[in-house]
Amino acid sequence: MQKAKINIAIDGYSSCGKGTLARYLATQLGYQFIDSGAMYRAVTYYALLKKCHPENEAEVLSLLDQIDLSFEKNQATDRFDIVLNGENIEGKIRNLEVAKWVSPVARISGVRSFLVKQQQSIAAQKGVVMDGRDIGTVVLADAELKIFMTARPEIRAQRRLKELVDSGMEVTFEAVLQNLNERDLIDSTRADSPLLLTEAYHLLDNSDLSVAEQNTLAMTWVKEALQKLPG
Ligand code: C5P
Repeated sequence: MQKAKINIAIDGYSSCGKGTLARYLATQLGYQFIDSGAMYRAVTYYALLKKCHPENEAEVLSLLDQIDLSFEKNQATDRFDIVLNGENIEGKIRNLEVAKWVSPVARISGVRSFLVKQQQSIAAQKGVVMDGRDIGTVVLADAELKIFMTARPEIRAQRRLKELVDSGMEVTFEAVLQNLNERDLIDSTRADSPLLLTEAYHLLDNSDLSVAEQNTLAMTWVKEALQKLPG
């Protein structure tokens, strides 16, 4: 008999390494990793492509029925890339232009319900690790394990800067830090499904933890959650 599976929700501030942890747990458990932020970035990318102002709700909403999103395995990186209307746009959604507009787009309730429905349907069969801002509170409110990640802003900005520079972009530490702070503020204060730390979460501050230490800690929580499963 196949072992029962759980869903794992990982939420937290921008650039805390949520994706790194989610990918690790998914690999260890043989689960599917879903980067929900990539879906918000894809909608933002499409709005910019169509020359629609990301803060014009009616215009953004009018685009949704032209948007088909999926994930496909990238054989070179072994990761799942986001696909928009048949095109792999993974390399086009991580720049500062998309990062600048994604939180205003993610504030629009109609965009959220459009994406939440897809996220919930992917996770319906269990065995999913999903990272984002509202996964433990809204998307997978019944997830068996919820982790909330944080780290000091300067450390997060430094890590994100390295990622962007390594991928060939010209950005400054100040611009990255400012973008993280602006996104965190919008994401935590918006009316619809704000980022919110509740008692249901295990809090993971990785400011002074190595990736290995963080992974070990999270795996102890995974084991606890699996032990609580009936049967
Ligand atoms: O995770 P990532 O930093 O790529 O997410 C980009 C943005 O998408 C966030 O700053 C937030 O505005 C939005 N987002 C969201 N809800 C999610 C995931 C991401 O509002 N579940």
